[in-house]
Amino acid sequence: MTLLMHVLLGSIPAPRSGSNYPSTMSDSTNSSPTPAGTKRGPAEYFSGTAWVTMLAGGNPTDCTVADVTFEPGCRNNWHSHPAGQILVVTAGRGFYQEKGQPAQLLRVGDTVSIAPGVVHWHGAAADSIFTHLAINPNVKQGVSDWLQPVTDEEYRSAHG
Ligand code: MN
Repeated sequence: MTLLMHVLLGSIPAPRSGSNYPSTMSDSTNSSPTPAGTKRGPAEYFSGTAWVTMLAGGNPTDCTVADVTFEPGCRNNWHSHPAGQILVVTAGRGFYQEKGQPAQLLRVGDTVSIAPGVVHWHGAAADSIFTHLAINPNVKQGVSDWLQPVTDEEYRSAHG
């Protein structure tokens, strides 16, 4: 019997859509791959819904690694990192833009190395989820300095 038939017959649950992603996190009875400890990205720093899972802490390397998933249309505010940041795209499509530069489309496997103090934003395309690892070195210097939200006009122009 195929997987689809099992789903149609109700013998295993149908996969949930992306928009239901949060609802799986408090449901301990299913086998959602969503890792424990996932938190909603702070509303004051994100336009839309993002999910953040801290994968590795700051000791003894003084470096953090987080998995960040943006729902379609979600992006973070303009911001910079006192010690820089590396992004590694693991799912979906999204954008990275530095202030005064054109936005870059990012796909799975793409990486971005962001120099300290460079003002930028990152987030999902309007029609795709977007997941990246966010690697922050030297976090004793600080993690992020948050600025204003990316406007709808700025976000639309990223799509070309
Ligand atoms: Mn950043």
